[in-house]
Amino acid sequence: KSEPLAHLISKPEAQRFYQPREKFGHKGTYGHALLVAGSYGKIGAAVLSTKAAFRIGAGLVTAFVPKCGYPILQTAIPEAMVITDKNEEYISSIEVDFEPSAIGVGMGLGKNKATVEALKKLFTNTESPFVIDADALNNISKNKELLKLLPKNSVLTPHPGELKGLIGIWKNDYDKIEKVKKFSSKHEVVVIIKGAYTLTVYGDKLYLNSSGNPGMATAGSGDALTGVITGLLSQGYDPLLASVFGVYIHGRAGDIAAGQMGYEALMAGDIIEFLADAYIDLF
Ligand code: AMP
Ligand code: MG
Repeated sequence: KSEPLAHLISKPEAQRFYQPREKFGHKGTYGHALLVAGSYGKIGAAVLSTKAAFRIGAGLVTAFVPKCGYPILQTAIPEAMVITDKNEEYISSIEVDFEPSAIGVGMGLGKNKATVEALKKLFTNTESPFVIDADALNNISKNKELLKLLPKNSVLTPHPGELKGLIGIWKNDYDKIEKVKKFSSKHEVVVIIKGAYTLTVYGDKLYLNSSGNPGMATAGSGDALTGVITGLLSQGYDPLLASVFGVYIHGRAGDIAAGQMGYEALMAGDIIEFLADAYIDLF
């Protein structure tokens, strides 16, 4: 039997991928997610991704942010734990006193030299599964050393601009997908090509998402997705399942939210609130 061009992911597939909560589960069962995000003026990226990790079901969530993010995180999300960098405005060295079940990194980080060095250390010294997004991807694109340290089995979540940095410009969609397949195989990572009909690529395997809408073309949507996938990894979903299921449920939450408020008014925080309805809608 030959492989289909791509696996279409809609509700029946998502139902199969879903891993039900255990009656006797405790918060430790669902893992401790770490979000490494934010810089001065972009602490919202840490707030959104942290909240999304909770809403998707992580047991514990810690946000690692620059000092200026401390009161913001603690006020916006009392459920979260917060660890701060020694630097006030951007992340310069990442140290935590626990072993994260999963790490989401990059949202609103900026491109400071010290941040790049901190990322190198994080990639070198950590066994946890990664979701790598936004400025972590931009820094990888500009720094060959950092690219070499890319942890295997990571999930990369580029939007079109970030993807260009990783694989260069493409001639057409076919060319783009071939280049991403090559990148995915070479570095042994999952690449999620975000946009309408998000495509998840793992080696030669392609998964085409059916949920989502143009209302989600709004600031912070991607930060919510990173929180979702990090939260799924922390609950024990493997990287490919966390990606495909996460993209579906994030899009479904966006669809239900748009049903209530329309495309234009929809904001990223709404996607996160409607994750509840997306889960309920699964069965
Ligand atoms: P980012 O650009 O990092 O904020 O990510 C945007 C998020 O919103 C991704 O998950 C995209 O798949 C989603 N998104 C953006 N535009 C659309 C669209 N037109 N249709 C469906 N999803 C979209
Ligand atoms: Mg983004």
